[in-house]
Amino acid sequence: MMEMKIGFIGLGLMGKPMAINLIKAGYPLTVWNRTTSKMTELLALGAKGARSPKEVAENSDTVITMLTDSPDVEQVVLGPDGIIEAAKEGMVLIDMSTISPQTTRKIAEELSRKGVEMLDAPVTGGQIGAINATLSIMVGGKEEVYEKCRPIFQTLGKKVTYMGTHGSGQITKLCNQIMCVLNIQGICEGLMLGAKAGLDLNKLIEVLTGGAANSWQLANLGPKIVKGDLEPGFKIKTQQKDLRLVLETAAEYSLPLPGTALVNQILRIAEAEGYSEKGTQAAIKAMEKISGYRVTPT
Ligand code: NAP
Repeated sequence: MMEMKIGFIGLGLMGKPMAINLIKAGYPLTVWNRTTSKMTELLALGAKGARSPKEVAENSDTVITMLTDSPDVEQVVLGPDGIIEAAKEGMVLIDMSTISPQTTRKIAEELSRKGVEMLDAPVTGGQIGAINATLSIMVGGKEEVYEKCRPIFQTLGKKVTYMGTHGSGQITKLCNQIMCVLNIQGICEGLMLGAKAGLDLNKLIEVLTGGAANSWQLANLGPKIVKGDLEPGFKIKTQQKDLRLVLETAAEYSLPLPGTALVNQILRIAEAEGYSEKGTQAAIKAMEKISGYRVTPT
């Protein structure tokens, strides 16, 4: 049995399989989720249930958060019944959510006053990566704290990289999101042209994943688009939250990101069409809407 007691807060699409992997690795785990029904599976696997983030922190040396957005992490860490209320010297908070680098630095500062260290450690690799423990993890914070937490990261992911001071992990993740959205847009446009010209789209994906257009998204989401499987591994509404963070951060640096801004608007069409809770592959629905041509069977 591992020595370090871990707390896990946020058992959504990503958090639940990540928490399961920690239990499987033998870590004593205390969990909390706002919607308590999502805790059931973890409790059945041997996790201890808490009634608040504060209670998670009382039972843990290291607390991991996997929540939606900046205000959610702020609330769970600094709010009433939050982690900070049970802060103790030497405790570590690892925030694996994608949130604003600025909020990350603010939370790290508040926690440091109580002797708590923070790492920002957002991930990429999708829900499949969370389930199979093959995530890429990009970490910001103090290097010695990162070294101490490395075994935890290695339980959750395959490629773990220390990026620099507080917020560096989040900045890295925003760069990732820019590359991802432009990639999915390219995939949708390629599939639209292939479909309209009468190609077999499964063959198209098969041959192109062997060449220069190959990508994680073409291999994983391309076949889902062809089948019309829009179920979320990563929701459009979560992607839009990330693009908001990207565009706000780019504005601070006075950096134009025309491609990202365009995809942000295209995804807004998908949201207006009712696909906000669907996976990012539902970007195809926006393309179908503006082209008047249907690729997906449903
Ligand atoms: P999700 O399925 O929507 O889960 C979000 C989790 O956050 C849920 O457990 C939710 O609780 C909790 N939460 C949200 N607001 C809260 C609040 N104010 N107080 C307490 N709990 C709150 O989202 P997800 O896909 O797992 O994403 C989680 C994070 O990982 C996001 O930052 C996302 O950008 C990032 N991420 C996701 C993926 C992916 O492929 N899905 C990949 C990389 C990174 P309830 O159950 O009560 O709603």
